[in-house]
Amino acid sequence: MSSFLKDVESQFDNVVASLDLPEGLAEKIRVCNATYVTRFGVRLRGKIHTFTGWRAVHSTHQNPAKGGIRYSSIADQDEVEALAALMTYKCAMLGLPFGGSKGALKIDPSKWEENELEKITRRFAQELIRHGFLSSGMNVPAPDMGTNEQTMMWIADEYRRLKPDDINGMACVTGKPLGGNGIEGRTEATGRGVQFAIQAFFETPSDASKAGFSGGDLHGRSVVIQGLGNVGYHAAKFLSKEDGCLITAVIERDGVVRNTAGLDIEALKTHVAATGGVHGFEGGSYDPEGARALEDNCDILIPAAMERVIHCGNAGAINARLVVEAANGPTTYEADQKLRERGVVIIPDIYANAGGVAVSYFEWVKNLTHIPFGLMERRYDEKGHRTLARSLEMMTGQAFPKEAEAAFFQGRREIDLVRSGLDDMMRSTYAELSRRWNDPDDPARDLRSAAYTLSINRIAEAYKAIGI
Ligand code: NAD
Repeated sequence: MSSFLKDVESQFDNVVASLDLPEGLAEKIRVCNATYVTRFGVRLRGKIHTFTGWRAVHSTHQNPAKGGIRYSSIADQDEVEALAALMTYKCAMLGLPFGGSKGALKIDPSKWEENELEKITRRFAQELIRHGFLSSGMNVPAPDMGTNEQTMMWIADEYRRLKPDDINGMACVTGKPLGGNGIEGRTEATGRGVQFAIQAFFETPSDASKAGFSGGDLHGRSVVIQGLGNVGYHAAKFLSKEDGCLITAVIERDGVVRNTAGLDIEALKTHVAATGGVHGFEGGSYDPEGARALEDNCDILIPAAMERVIHCGNAGAINARLVVEAANGPTTYEADQKLRERGVVIIPDIYANAGGVAVSYFEWVKNLTHIPFGLMERRYDEKGHRTLARSLEMMTGQAFPKEAEAAFFQGRREIDLVRSGLDDMMRSTYAELSRRWNDPDDPARDLRSAAYTLSINRIAEAYKAIGI
């Protein structure tokens, strides 16, 4: 029977068959190194509740192993190992110095109060720390489905309590709040990366034309998004506000809300936060059959909720020309083949949602260097720019334009540097994937194969370098 893990392994096998790797290395890269399972009790509401959690370490060809922790009532070991493998490939594809890991706790966070979630999270963190699955040099989690910056802060604080002498303790987890040694732009990072990925695709006319688009402008493109959580909300917000896309449908757990003129994403987010779903939102028409809206007619479909939502049962009915996998593993292996046969282009998860781990990398580096980005250069740059402006004024006899002053004189802030670094990583990686997809001698079958090939070759190089 197919499963999320089998899907990821099939993608891997498919690509590896055409690579020239030393005997046995493919198997070494493919398998998950270790999975830690913990069952722990927490006294809540007058009795002891037992929780099950996992932390899978897929690869430590680079240390630390990096990957989020999700809270979900349907989490299991297969899912965690599949997600850990995706993290290995994602980090290697971006060229980050990380192995791949992932964790999960089998819990429905909406069923627990904030103070109860704190107790449960701290207890889970203790288990991870005690067994060597949490530290800045070995294993560094981040937020994922059902967790957020608050969850990460509890984990970091628990680490600090148990290891007060570790000067790099705060780098044991990323996605922390700003006041807790986080970094500007981490919360928006995955959605921002999705936006950069779509921009890069449309700015490459040869690729856009493969999906039947004339390329260029995103203005007026219709977009359907599944999941208005961290990733889906930020992607929807940036695409509608900054690129002029029309978000024509948002699918949530309780159904879908549609508006062909484009939904007001801020108003919808406020409604979802207040009511827990899209039902009752006045800015669109509601339908309880949420999953059916994946088949809506649109330019871009962005599954941003969970895995395996595009499968054999609906792949033939998908009407989008471009699927952007903001979630991890939203398309099954068979559905991927079906979509490809129908000419639908997929921007694969390991690239599309890589913005989160890219900015997590910046946060980890910031924590390890113990200095905010831009601190040493900011005033120096500002002074240099003022001198340059004065020199221009003296040389030309004209005043420096007032409207350009703010942008020219202001030194680089942390958010500017983070967005610039993320933009660069997403665009330069896309250029490499596109180059492989369009290689006249040996074209990759699609963007996913290009991404896996780039990543597996880099991991193989790391193993070869240490003589394995
Ligand atoms: P989240 O918990 O913030 O949001 C998930 C949203 O999806 C929620 O609003 C939830 O109600 C909705 N949802 C859940 N099941 C659904 C269903 N069956 N139909 C419709 N909506 C549903 O999670 P997130 O952090 O936004 O993660 C979403 C996806 O993105 C996951 O696959 C995750 O692994 C992936 N991802 C997240 C990050 C990150 O930085 N948070 C990074 C990379 C990948």
